Amino acid sequence: MDKKIRAGVIGLGAMGVPMARHLANSGVLDMVWNRTSSTAETVSKETGALKAETPERLATACNVILTCVSADQDLLDVVEQLLPGVKPGSVLVDTSTVSPVTAKRVASSLKNVGAGFVDAPVSGGVEGAKKGTLSVMAGGDSATISRIMPVLEAISATVTHMGPVGSGQATKAVNQVMIAGIAEAVCEALAFGEKLNLPSERLLSIVSAGAAGSWFLEHRGETMLKDSFDVGFKLSLLLKDLLICQDLARELNITMPTTEAAIRDYRELVALGDGDHDISGLIRLKRGID
Ligand code: NAP
Repeated sequence: MDKKIRAGVIGLGAMGVPMARHLANSGVLDMVWNRTSSTAETVSKETGALKAETPERLATACNVILTCVSADQDLLDVVEQLLPGVKPGSVLVDTSTVSPVTAKRVASSLKNVGAGFVDAPVSGGVEGAKKGTLSVMAGGDSATISRIMPVLEAISATVTHMGPVGSGQATKAVNQVMIAGIAEAVCEALAFGEKLNLPSERLLSIVSAGAAGSWFLEHRGETMLKDSFDVGFKLSLLLKDLLICQDLARELNITMPTTEAAIRDYRELVALGDGDHDISGLIRLKRGID
């Protein structure tokens, strides 16, 4: 690969747009592509990066391709489209949350054309993406990760190499079990506090100050009390992640009751039409939806 990084971003959603901005600020962003073309046009105008007509065109022009799409099949579709343009020595770094199996499948497709792959799922929410302080859980070989480190460092505060391809996604699965468990506990507890007729603002403030404090409570507590669920992490995406965790647990022959409860809750919310709400929308269910 050339020494100079020419990065392209595919998938300009809630996470992809701020990541693209950070790459532009670091001087490595060359091109962007998004399925909904108008978003790519907006980001292109803002950052000065070119708008690619197709994922293949982006792969031809860039030597580091960062993907951030919704789910496993979306990543596989995008990879199929970009693969004919990928040059030997290029690296695809995927920041979407998908299964370790999908990560290994994509790595194998890229290996067949002489290119590298790093699974690099992220944690830190939309806030972390905007601030460029995400935590990156990387899977791949050390040499490939070192080559793309300027790209990872531009979007994150921490990059941790977890092992071979798939290890990043396995780590993210562990992370999502925790995220779901924390959301279950916080939403259930705040709904409980409301039923006890406690003053909500003061309740939030006192529990946040003690051992019950958490990222979720700090960043989503106030908006939950205001019944505002538009920003952040779509609960349909967390459901997708938890189904990956469920598959992994089945393979290991273990049970994860909290994860199972969260899957039931988010399935119910998706069926009610709340799939695009932030995961803190779970409090609606805990309050009891009429
Ligand atoms: P999002 O706002 O819904 O954006 C999804 C992006 O993927 C959009 O750019 C969308 O294109 C694109 N996309 C979806 N399906 C596609 C397909 N079949 N072909 C091409 N493009 C496709 O989601 P997000 O919150 O940015 O999340 C993206 C990934 O990061 C997910 O895997 C999520 O689990 C993970 N993640 C999210 C957060 C968070 O807090 N939001 C945190 C950590 C990790 P369109 O614009 O055309 O719809």
